[in-house]
Amino acid sequence: MESWRKSYTAYKRLATYRDGEYAYGFLRDNLRNLLLAAVVASGALLLNALSYALADTVSYVRVGLMLVLTLMIGLGCMLIIYVLEHTCSARGCIWIRNMVVLGLLVGVDFLLCEGMTFSGGLYVYPMALLVLVVVPNFRIHETFLILLWLNLSVCFLLQSGSELFSSGQLAMHPYRYMIFCSFISLVIAVRHHIDYLLLVRQRAILQTASETDPLTGLLNRRGMEAYLKKRNYGWNISMVLFDIDDFKSYNDTYGHVAGDECLRTVAECFMTVIGKKDGIAVRYGGEEFILLFFLADKEEARRQTNLCLEAMRKKQLPAGTFANYPYVTLSAGLVVSEEPPRQDVERCYALAALADRNLYAAKAFGKNQCVG
Ligand code: GH3
Ligand code: MG
Ligand code: MG
Repeated sequence: MESWRKSYTAYKRLATYRDGEYAYGFLRDNLRNLLLAAVVASGALLLNALSYALADTVSYVRVGLMLVLTLMIGLGCMLIIYVLEHTCSARGCIWIRNMVVLGLLVGVDFLLCEGMTFSGGLYVYPMALLVLVVVPNFRIHETFLILLWLNLSVCFLLQSGSELFSSGQLAMHPYRYMIFCSFISLVIAVRHHIDYLLLVRQRAILQTASETDPLTGLLNRRGMEAYLKKRNYGWNISMVLFDIDDFKSYNDTYGHVAGDECLRTVAECFMTVIGKKDGIAVRYGGEEFILLFFLADKEEARRQTNLCLEAMRKKQLPAGTFANYPYVTLSAGLVVSEEPPRQDVERCYALAALADRNLYAAKAFGKNQCVG
C-alpha cells in the first residue's frame, strides 16, 4: 500500500514537472499569438477612433488618448514577449498568462459596461472568446469558468436594459448569439486542449528517448544534465566514474554483440546497487559509466562503489584473451563534492574530471579497484 502511494506521488510529481516544462514552451508561443491579437485589436480601435475624429464627432484629445493607449498596449506586449523569452521561468510564464487573460477579460467587461459604442457592442463578446481560442492549453474547467463569467456579465447587461445592444446591431437575438458563440468557442477550446495534451505526451516520449541510453536503459549525458537541473535545492554529491577493464580485448575475443551484452550486465549491477537509494546511473561514454549518489559521506560512497565492483565480479563473465583478470572487472575513480553544487552542471563536469584522475590511478595501480 505504502509503495503504491509512493509511486503515485512520484508519478504526480513527474507529471507536474513535465507539464510545467512543456507548458512553458507551448504557452510562450501561444501567448505571442494572444499578444499579437491584442496589438491588432488596439490598432483597430485606434483606426476606429481616428475615423470618428475625421467625422468630427470625437475630440482630438480623445484621439491623442487612444494613441497613447495603443502605444502602451504595444510596448507592454513587447515587454512581456521580452520577459518571456529572456528571463521567465515556467511558473512565471503561467503567472503572466493568467494576468494577461484576466486583464483582457476585465478590459472586455469595462468596454461592455462603459458602453463605448465604437467597440461594436456585443461584438466585443467574440473578441473575449478569442482569448479561449488563442490560449489552447486552458483546462476544460477553466474554459467553462471563463465562459460562465462572460455570459453572466453580458446577461446582466441585457437584463438591465442596457442600450448597448440595439436590436439593429445583430442579425439574431442577443441570447442566441451568445449561445452560438459560446458553443463554437467551447468546441475550439476543447479541440485545442486535446491537441495540447497529445503534444505534451508526444514530447514526453521524445524527451525520455533523448535522455536514455538505448543499449543499457541508463540515463545518457543529456539525461544526467536534465536530472541535475531538476534538483533545484542544495545537495552534496559523490561521483564515481567507472570504466570496464580490458574491454577492447573482450570485444576482440567475443565480438561486439557479446560486448554489448556485457555493457548491459554492467548496467544491471549498477541498478541493483542503486536500488532505492538517492542516486542515478549514467552511461557517460562508450564503456564509461557515472554513478551519482546524493550524499556527502565518503565512506558510504566508497562502500557503494565497492558493492558495484563486487557485483560485477560475482557475475563471473569470462574476460578477453589479453585481460589482467580471468573475469570481467571494473575500475572506479571516486570524488565527493566539497560543497553543494546545486544546479550547476559545469561544476559537476569539473567533478567528473577529478573522478577521471582517480580512475587513471586505479588503472595504474592494477585495475579492478576503486581510488578516491
Ligand atoms: P582499460 O582497461 O585501460 O580501460 O582498457 P580498455 O581495453 O577497456 O580500453 P578502453 O577503455 O579505451 O576501451 C574502449 C573500448 O570500448 C573500445 C570500444 O571497442 C569499446 N566500446 C565502446 N563503446 C562500445 C559499445 O557500445 N559496444 C561495444 N561492444 N564496445 C564498445
Ligand atoms: Mg574507456
Ligand atoms: Mg576500459
